[in-house]
Amino acid sequence: MTQSTTRSEALFDRARAVTPAGVNSPVRAFGGVGGVPRFIERAEGPWLTDVDGNRYVDLICSWGPMILGHAHPDVLAAVTDAATRGFSFGTPTENEVALAAEVIDRVEPLEQVRLVSSGTEATMSALRLARGVTGRSVIVKFAGCYHGHVDALLAEAGSGVATFALPGSAGVPASAAGETVVLPYNDLGAVEELFAARGEEIAAVITEAAPGNMGIVPPAPGFTEGLRRVTAAHGALLISDEVMTGFRSSRSGWYGLETGPEGAHPGGYEGGAPDLFTFGKVMGGGFPAAAFGGRADLMARLAPEGPVYQAGTLSGNPVATAAGLATLRACTPELYPRLEATATRIADAASAALSAEGVAHRVQWAGSMFSIFFREGQVHSFADAREQDTGAYGRFFHAMLEGGVHLPPSAFEAWFVSGALDDEALETILAALPAAAAAAASV
Ligand code: PMP
Repeated sequence: MTQSTTRSEALFDRARAVTPAGVNSPVRAFGGVGGVPRFIERAEGPWLTDVDGNRYVDLICSWGPMILGHAHPDVLAAVTDAATRGFSFGTPTENEVALAAEVIDRVEPLEQVRLVSSGTEATMSALRLARGVTGRSVIVKFAGCYHGHVDALLAEAGSGVATFALPGSAGVPASAAGETVVLPYNDLGAVEELFAARGEEIAAVITEAAPGNMGIVPPAPGFTEGLRRVTAAHGALLISDEVMTGFRSSRSGWYGLETGPEGAHPGGYEGGAPDLFTFGKVMGGGFPAAAFGGRADLMARLAPEGPVYQAGTLSGNPVATAAGLATLRACTPELYPRLEATATRIADAASAALSAEGVAHRVQWAGSMFSIFFREGQVHSFADAREQDTGAYGRFFHAMLEGGVHLPPSAFEAWFVSGALDDEALETILAALPAAAAAAASV
């Protein structure tokens, strides 16, 4: 079968005339894999349908938010109901309180959150708060972690910055980049050394709770615990970015993930509570809702009570909060073992197909999140992640697409599963894998 892509191609041409590279977020341009991005017209459950009428099993899930699948009936009803009552008021609303309470209820150390509209806004605001609270300016981040397109956080970032092999971004002033120190992930010695030399300048360490933006690279035993110990000893804050893992790794995110024999894959937070958390993706249910939060004494430093300013015209938007609430309420404890079982089936089948064709690969897990690196051996850091065969991934990706499965168009991203993946969708994935593995093996 060869899919028709005539309409996607025509739209891509039009898009490129009016939008840089034809897309509103870089990875969507297929730069990491080549070819024409599919313009999606509609989506339901586990399926995406493009403008040419091709159907794909969705393993992007909007890069995380669509954990229930598309157009979930509960979320659709909540959104429709909210929208009939108006779109945005710029006043407080009851649903904002309910969504904040729902998030706080799930993540034990949280006392207060403030709602924003994107993960980028959440991390940007958390950094400002950390700097305002400590009176210090240096931020420590890890290579391969992506925290949104915040000036100070673009250095050696994951996600699209990794896909396009960029060191950072033009347009970030040296003054902003100069306040950021980038260290190798999972290297506690490097963190200790930096703090020994410059501990009094450091406002915060920000880390993905379990990195998923260079592919999945879980924290090594003792790493997060070490970050907590070192930051606390030097009066710096620890910010755990759960934009991707929040309400996905477990009902409570990475922080609440139980480790131990009942989980098929290791994971879970270790060490004392971080000072601040950031959330997004799942908590917006596909709409722009995100949050940052932590202890009440820290959050009290925000305007209007405190001196750290932060605001938003659409923050706590009524339609977005309705979608987020309905999504979180449908993320029941039963959902997570099902996600893990589905993810395991897909990862095992993909690994078997790749092995049968002799394709070097490694599957890595963080709870139920996984990705496949096209290389052998454990991946501990961004330097390890970069040593993979992205060409082989591109061939694998296109063969899967041809077989009706839409993977993330980059070798540096997690494969996102949803609770809507049914037998038909799983069969489609399993059927597409042998040809895709053969394509990956062919040079
Ligand atoms: N932090 C993490 C861990 C993320 O994965 C992302 C997005 N992929 C962000 C922050 C930024 O979120 P947004 O794209 O909503 O700005």
